[in-house]
Amino acid sequence: MPTTDPQLMDKIVSLCKRRGFVFQASEIYGGIGNTYDYGPLGVELLRNVKNSWWQRTVTLRSDVVGLDSAIIQNPKTWETSGHVQGFTDPMVDCKKCKSRFRADKLEDARCPERPSKKPGECGGELTEPRAFNLMFKTNIGAAESTSSVAYLRPETAQGIFLNFLNVLQSSRVKPPFGIAQIGKSFRNEITPGNFVFRTREFEQCEMEFFVPPAQNEQWYEYWRKERLQWYLDLGFDPSKLRMREHDKSELAHYSTGTTDIEYEYPFGWGELEGIACRTDFDLKRHAEASGVDLRYFDPETKERYFPYVIEPAGGINRIALTSMIDGYAEEQVEGETRAVLRFHPEIAPITVGVFPLVKKEGMPEKALEIEKELRRARLSTYYDQSAAIGRRYRRQDEIGTPFCVTIDGDTLKDDVVTVRHRDSMQQERVKVAELRAYLAGAIASWKRPATA
Ligand code: ATP
Repeated sequence: MPTTDPQLMDKIVSLCKRRGFVFQASEIYGGIGNTYDYGPLGVELLRNVKNSWWQRTVTLRSDVVGLDSAIIQNPKTWETSGHVQGFTDPMVDCKKCKSRFRADKLEDARCPERPSKKPGECGGELTEPRAFNLMFKTNIGAAESTSSVAYLRPETAQGIFLNFLNVLQSSRVKPPFGIAQIGKSFRNEITPGNFVFRTREFEQCEMEFFVPPAQNEQWYEYWRKERLQWYLDLGFDPSKLRMREHDKSELAHYSTGTTDIEYEYPFGWGELEGIACRTDFDLKRHAEASGVDLRYFDPETKERYFPYVIEPAGGINRIALTSMIDGYAEEQVEGETRAVLRFHPEIAPITVGVFPLVKKEGMPEKALEIEKELRRARLSTYYDQSAAIGRRYRRQDEIGTPFCVTIDGDTLKDDVVTVRHRDSMQQERVKVAELRAYLAGAIASWKRPATA
């Protein structure tokens, strides 16, 4: 079974580099601690995950609108939100090797000098825990004075609260409604790791859903179900997903409930996304600090109130990584191992591989013509005429291409191609004139294979 394979993470990391999903950032200079760049396939995967989230959260709904707020906001934003004071992890330093570890994660940490030992058990003495702020500081303008200090945003949510009034006044929305945003966030994580699971620069997909306070519970329940369903619809293994409700001691003081959607990674259960009840905390604090009235005026009841907020917040890079871990399988086929990534066709970096059976007799020309047609239909394609056809199929399986179209000698006579399916490896003959509709149908009706 794929995720019990102890080598799974190593295989994913090596596939990512070999096939152009993810590269180490600044590699030619020796890299820069756990920072990554996305290559030609990785960038398509990220874009498709973002599109899928956006369509589900914004395009297909009438009650959510989008936003793209700045990464650097007025620093008062982060004083008011509590990030300057409170966005800290308790840290300990090893007096011997000078490494720094999260005090609450010592169980999972390893001494860099003696990796078989945990910090503190390796002969090195640890300091008392100290608070370490996770925000990246920068300076605005030329002078590096304290008055010019600013922060890179550690979450996209605050930009949404700052624009609550702008959106209310410019769009025809009223509670219950949401504002969604996808964008980069930055956290000076002390222990980044597990490849792109935890990095210092990452992309978030967050939505603040503003509701009348009396509807808080009902919408919390709704978003918990809806967000889990999205992962199931993407084909993630239901037995590897769980909802973990925070107990009272974990909850932020203002929150009435938070649930994490967790996935069972090869390195253990980890958070994919959090769904939090943030009450009216953020809007109220920003109203107090700015002096601007951020209450909603209900023209029907003539009531003015701060809406309550339900926030589903996920990480695009983590979702993309999870789609690879969850989709990866190795199967024995005709005496050899086939590696396959069973992406949902909507997020697969390439949707259709197009191959002439052989490099002659007019087949490449016909194949290129068909490929052009498919590109025009906005499908992402890959043309390949090198190596035996079986090898070309395997190369596409490994990067998760759900369909391959092969043009053979008959195609030139009867205009019929072979469509080969990644998951079942079954082949069907399809008329060129019907190919677009056929593929659209196959994408829409895709289901996680029962054998996966
Ligand atoms: P964690 O407990 O893993 O640090 P968090 O609870 O701090 O996460 P949130 O602030 O709720 O995370 O952010 C929402 C989402 O953003 C997370 O569910 C995760 O998918 C993503 N995320 C948070 N921190 C990182 C990071 N350092 N690298 C990649 N993704 C991240």
